[in-house]
Amino acid sequence: MAGMISERRKTEAIESLESNVRTYSRSFPAIFSLARGSIMLTEDGRRIIDFLSGAGALNYGHNNRRIKEAITDYLASDAVVHGLDIATPAKVEFMETFKSNILRERDLQYRFQFTGPTGANAIEAALKLSRKITGRHNVISFTNAFHGMSLGAIATSGNRFYRTAAGVCLSGASFMPYDGYLGQAVDTAGYLQKILMDESSGVDQPAAILVETIQGEGGINVARKEWLQSVQAIAQKIGALFIVDDIQMGCGRTGEFFSFEAAALSPDIIVMSKSLSGYGLPLSMLLIKEDLDCWKPGEHTGTFRGNNLALVSATAAVNIYWRNEAFAEGVHQMGELMRRRLETIASAHGNNFAVRGRGMAVGFDCQTAEIAQATARTAFEKGLMVERCGPLDQVIKFLPALTIDSETLNEGLEIFEKALDQTLKQTRAALS
Ligand SMILES: *Cc1c(COP(=O)(O)O)cnc(C)c1O
Repeated sequence: MAGMISERRKTEAIESLESNVRTYSRSFPAIFSLARGSIMLTEDGRRIIDFLSGAGALNYGHNNRRIKEAITDYLASDAVVHGLDIATPAKVEFMETFKSNILRERDLQYRFQFTGPTGANAIEAALKLSRKITGRHNVISFTNAFHGMSLGAIATSGNRFYRTAAGVCLSGASFMPYDGYLGQAVDTAGYLQKILMDESSGVDQPAAILVETIQGEGGINVARKEWLQSVQAIAQKIGALFIVDDIQMGCGRTGEFFSFEAAALSPDIIVMSKSLSGYGLPLSMLLIKEDLDCWKPGEHTGTFRGNNLALVSATAAVNIYWRNEAFAEGVHQMGELMRRRLETIASAHGNNFAVRGRGMAVGFDCQTAEIAQATARTAFEKGLMVERCGPLDQVIKFLPALTIDSETLNEGLEIFEKALDQTLKQTRAALS
């Protein structure tokens, strides 16, 4: 009981002290005190299965024991934690490890740019660099895209709610239909090509084409590999940089380290953040093709670039999970399990639901925000944390940790099914 009382007091403190802008504490009304792997504990003793994973920042689970060892050792040794972007052994080791285990294995060659710690700041850096290289101002972005909350990043994001909140005129981006936006029969890459090759289309020549291979916030919209390849080819043809925002879908989420490996793309710039540090510590970077690294020293600076603690955990994550193919294969298998189970749940509940995704990024499209919201809320009451996404927030997004065991995964999916059941029964009862 004492726990309940203190929980209520803390909830009241959040409501009275923290800005209205807070979001997740509304969707998940509890005080979370402990977390390990895929399980979070609330202060009043509830056990919650986490299928949100810090919006994709916790691909290796909460407080991953093996990664934690590396950072506690580092802290205990009094090695440099913050040093702006001065050279440290931690940074050298990260770049060497990433280069040999990730890049060289995939025949890729890139320079590392450590940006400010948010994904949005890395997007800003990528856009600035593209504009600097090409001397052009426009950027092609896609319907339902999400690239972050700073002004340049919002300008390339589709969501009207976020765009309006920016409060200024957002410029510098032209939106084109993403793959499937006009139905599977319409080739939107063909449309993009026509617009960009046409001297009279009214769309300014872009510095870059910025794309997510799977739109996370946009509703788990999966672009086909042929579409991605066409978009890359169009970028090449018109002298624009091809940028992949792999912030949410990278670091193994789709069953490969980079989400574009299945499509065998070769982006000019790759934007990484979220699960890069492996531990939920803030770390963002660009991978830039060597011949495009035309920054002048200090042209994109910042206080927290390449925080050493985050570099240490990022190195540990690569060393632990990406030395061979086994981890990626596990992601495919678990993803398959999750997808099949969700498809079964969808078809058992009529033909209104759609399941889409790749690897362990799967969306369950409820078609209406009401059903998605009620299901997510009920799921949380029953012990499962899931987020919603999509233009209407009508898609329930499944992003369990890639390290989750099948028992916990199944337990979470069972809770989801019960929550959906209950929601549909209540909706039907309300209608009759
Ligand atoms: C989360 C996200 C961002 C923004 O990252 P922040 O760290 O929130 O600034 C950009 N692009 C994609 C695809 C994301 O998922």
